[in-house]
Amino acid sequence: MPVDGLRGVGPKVAERLAKVGVASIQDLLFHLPLRYQDRTRVVPIAELQPGDEVLVEGRIRDTGIGYGRRRSLKVWLSDPSEQAGILLRFFHFSSNQVAALRPGTGLRCFGEVRRGYQSLEMVHPEYQPCGPEDGPDMEDVLTPIYPTTEGLQQSSWLALTDQALALLDQDHALLAEWLPPDVLTRHQLPPLAAALRLLHRPPTSIPLIELRDRQHPAFRRLAFEELVAHQLGLRRLRRNQKRIQAPVLSGDQSLRARLLESLPFELTAAQRRVADEIAADLQRPHPMLRLLQGDVGSGKTVIAALAALQAVESGLQVALMAPTELLSEQHLRSLRGWLGPLGLEPLWLVGRHKGRERAELVARIAGDDVQVVVGTHALFQEDVRFRDLGLAIVDEQHRFGVHQRMKLREKGALAKTVPHQLIMTATPIPRSLAMTLYADLDLSVIDELPPGRTPVTTVAVPDSRREEVIHRVRDACANGRQAYWVCTLIEESDALQCQAAEDTAKALAESLPGLRVGLIHGRLKAAEREPQMVGFAQGELDLLVATTVIEVGVDVPNASLMIIENPERLGLAQLHQLRGRVGRGAVKSHCVLLYHAPLSRQARERLAILRESTDGFEIARRDLKMRGPGEVLGTKQTGDMQFRIADPAGDETLLPAAQQTADMILDRHPDHVQPLMERWLGGRLEYGGV
Ligand code: ADP
Ligand code: MG
Repeated sequence: MPVDGLRGVGPKVAERLAKVGVASIQDLLFHLPLRYQDRTRVVPIAELQPGDEVLVEGRIRDTGIGYGRRRSLKVWLSDPSEQAGILLRFFHFSSNQVAALRPGTGLRCFGEVRRGYQSLEMVHPEYQPCGPEDGPDMEDVLTPIYPTTEGLQQSSWLALTDQALALLDQDHALLAEWLPPDVLTRHQLPPLAAALRLLHRPPTSIPLIELRDRQHPAFRRLAFEELVAHQLGLRRLRRNQKRIQAPVLSGDQSLRARLLESLPFELTAAQRRVADEIAADLQRPHPMLRLLQGDVGSGKTVIAALAALQAVESGLQVALMAPTELLSEQHLRSLRGWLGPLGLEPLWLVGRHKGRERAELVARIAGDDVQVVVGTHALFQEDVRFRDLGLAIVDEQHRFGVHQRMKLREKGALAKTVPHQLIMTATPIPRSLAMTLYADLDLSVIDELPPGRTPVTTVAVPDSRREEVIHRVRDACANGRQAYWVCTLIEESDALQCQAAEDTAKALAESLPGLRVGLIHGRLKAAEREPQMVGFAQGELDLLVATTVIEVGVDVPNASLMIIENPERLGLAQLHQLRGRVGRGAVKSHCVLLYHAPLSRQARERLAILRESTDGFEIARRDLKMRGPGEVLGTKQTGDMQFRIADPAGDETLLPAAQQTADMILDRHPDHVQPLMERWLGGRLEYGGV
């Protein structure tokens, strides 16, 4: 039922509704309020807390015009006892308003309470006059606030959802119930129509907090259905995947055995286990799609190298892709070191290769003599054709690039088979969450660090103590250690960030005479960067000033101190990754988070998490709790894996039930599968490309 059948929906409104994804009356019913206001009761002024959004009533005690930084009309409102008061503040006001807001007038206001200079305040509250007895009627349901778009007022949403709910009452078939009744009973969930009605117009009997925390059964009911739909989609993806052919990479072990022999270390038990899991997958005729999780420094690269060699042993090509040029460079270096002695020369292709040089590289990738290709997203470009790609390895660090996953599959599709895929990440997400978000992936976890690592001690220090921190760098270097100094900038601008690093390097070199200070950032050419990296690695530089580019790509065991400037600007995963550059040797290592005060409460909590834990899994778990999976996994921006209602990190208890229900529906109600997926996923699960 299209939405333009409703009163008040002409072409203009229909267009605006379409902007927020509302085309039908069903869509409208699923367009749920973001939050609620309670206009059903008056809160005594004496009980107000900053942050409350409330209705208050009182009498005007005094009115005046203030000439502070901005001219404002100030109205002091007192409760009947005159014991408590609140200041109403209007920055825009007319002379009529001044006249109407005379002392002695009774007023009912709605607004957000803030802490002012001397008292609590409300800025630009809604207000209406009211006498002692004849107060205007109160609302009798909580007021929903809908997510909206320009040109659509809350009043329009109210009018529209009123009509939609009335239609739903007349005709229950408007929204089919796809969850079997026994499932609802078992999990004590209300029917769909009742849940939607309640969320659009919650009665006052429901504590606002249950709605805010999305713990009310009505929310849980919708979250549950969404999770079920999601599980169905993932199960279908997985089934389809089994129908696709991939090259069987049996491999004869010849190269892998030689690599293992040449390594200066033994694989950890965890590394051996995941290497076996991957090796087994690669021998199957269906594409592997495996997520390899392992904390920073857990040794994922050597696992990638082993998988790569299995492809090469089988006569096929392998591509190793990294999110940044610098990281791809580091992989190139590692692979050269390990594979060079086996007679393999990896080819490197990144964005900076242009013109003739690029054309030549691209031609070689299509030719017979290249087995191993290392690069960035440059490998995804149209004209890059592999001779015979058997395996693609994507090192995503803490980013997840689902889009890139898709494109890679297309590359293989030319050859009628799809390459195997290994995705490596240092953002460990709890297994249950991984199963929900990436149930189309198999999961391997390296849950053990190589022996001999020492945990890093982390402290947070305000930048007012910068001098002290600089002395610390001097002392560490005087003792033969090396240090990193990481610059961050709030702007996304690469140029500014590099400039900041250059300035910092200059300033530090001046305050630390005698120390050899190096500098690396993303704008340096490889030829300029390389000597700095090598110099630092060989101990010819004491201090390496860098932008966040070094979160990846440096491995210097003698570096035992890292200063991170403005850590509050970075995500936890990134900070953890950066910090992973130290603590790689036997020496006790330290990380100083040099923050800029004052910190927000959130920032303080985040830095505390980092101080308290060096375990990537623990950090990721707490980060997820604080920010939700969309933010942490970086899927929020891309729109991948967006949940409308469910919060897979928060609704963990619902997950097992949703998985069971999905299986049961597939079994016993196969005709419900498609409509459920359409209702909740639309086309969104197509990204898997299968
Ligand atoms: P990450 O998982 O963060 O990508 P790397 O693969 O870069 O970690 O490994 C970090 C360092 O540990 C590298 O210098 C690597 O050679 C080394 N390494 C890997 N596995 C082991 C092991 N089993 N024992 C000792 N060192 C190892
Ligand atoms: Mg790595």
